[in-house]
Amino acid sequence: LVPVIAVDGPSASGKGTVAQRVAAALGFHYLDSGALYRLAALAAARAGVPWDDENGVANVAQTLDVKFDGEHILLCDSEVSTAIRTESIGVGASKVAALPQVRAALLERQRAFAQVPGLVADGRDMGSVVFPQAPLKVFLTASAGVRAERRYKQLLARGEEADLTAITADLHARDERDRARSVAPLKQLPDAHLLDTSAMDIEAAVQQILGWWQA
Ligand code: C5P
Repeated sequence: LVPVIAVDGPSASGKGTVAQRVAAALGFHYLDSGALYRLAALAAARAGVPWDDENGVANVAQTLDVKFDGEHILLCDSEVSTAIRTESIGVGASKVAALPQVRAALLERQRAFAQVPGLVADGRDMGSVVFPQAPLKVFLTASAGVRAERRYKQLLARGEEADLTAITADLHARDERDRARSVAPLKQLPDAHLLDTSAMDIEAAVQQILGWWQA
């Protein structure tokens, strides 16, 4: 069985960066499951399918023509790694992610990332639904204020417009949608290690996960 480290947590908790570095340190593959929901939202928008059309978006998700190549993400052979990171696609991703048929359509695609020698997967339901047998589960979080601040700096660094008040409200709305939905809600599992990075830098968080893995 291929070992999987499941890293779940709310938006802008830093789990993507941390999970990627853990994967690099162990020589494992990395799955950014949020990117798949973002890709489904973007592909639906491009196809003129509204985000609340469950059948339509599920069909788009099932047939996504996507390639992950290091930092590059290709949708129908065109580079979308920047296009999927906008706030508006983030909102769309969290809307389509609440639709059970869309989640079902992306399930096997996610499981296919579990290849030797191992996988670090980040998302909301890696430990609960996609890889429930994962030998290490981490719930990575940070206070709402710290997460809003991180997202704000990230947007500024990308040259995007950023408004801290709007970001705080948006993160809150997105977390609520992720926690309140009926399928695969975001929650800390009883068998997950809690990692609160509010007062921790990336390297310390990476070392903590590697420590748990080697224990
Ligand atoms: O992690 P990221 O912000 O890229 O995810 C975008 C959206 O996709 C999240 O707000 C969440 O609603 C959804 N998502 C999910 N399950 C996952 C990963 C992401 O529902 N495993």
